[in-house]
Amino acid sequence: MANEDGISHYLHPQHRLAHVHIEGNFLCDGCKVVGHGVRFRCHACNFDLHEHCARCSSTISVPMHSDHLLTLHVLSQDNPRRCDVCRKTAIGLCYRCVPCGVDIHPLCTLVRPNGGSWVTVGKIVLKVINIAANIAGFPGLDLIADAIER
Ligand SMILES: [Zn+2]
Ligand SMILES: [Zn+2]
Ligand SMILES: [Zn+2]
Ligand SMILES: [Zn+2]
Repeated sequence: MANEDGISHYLHPQHRLAHVHIEGNFLCDGCKVVGHGVRFRCHACNFDLHEHCARCSSTISVPMHSDHLLTLHVLSQDNPRRCDVCRKTAIGLCYRCVPCGVDIHPLCTLVRPNGGSWVTVGKIVLKVINIAANIAGFPGLDLIADAIER
């Protein structure tokens, strides 16, 4: 957990990151997706991470691809993928099932179904969608709902 000394993170090992709330948007230096408000931040370097991106584990199980664990990768700028949940470009932190070609933004792994029938979106299966609107720092979730309902 965060405390006043902040956390250390492998994406920015040279300084600790402070847990701060600053009004306004930021670009997460982990997943390259816009966030808002609460974040982990190195002021000296203008380095920001979503809370989720600072804490997410190296492997996870997700309901939209439940057969396999996804593993956390760091995609370079030259190797962008497309997120199978929101259909937007994924660079930086990205959960992948490499054998299946599934790629999901860390924040998009938090999307959860809420009833409704299962639908296939690209390579993955989703129900449409209950956005957990209280996920701190992620106004982009609205965009995910739009993308999937289209
Ligand atoms: Zn992020
Ligand atoms: Zn720094
Ligand atoms: Zn996504
Ligand atoms: Zn798989």
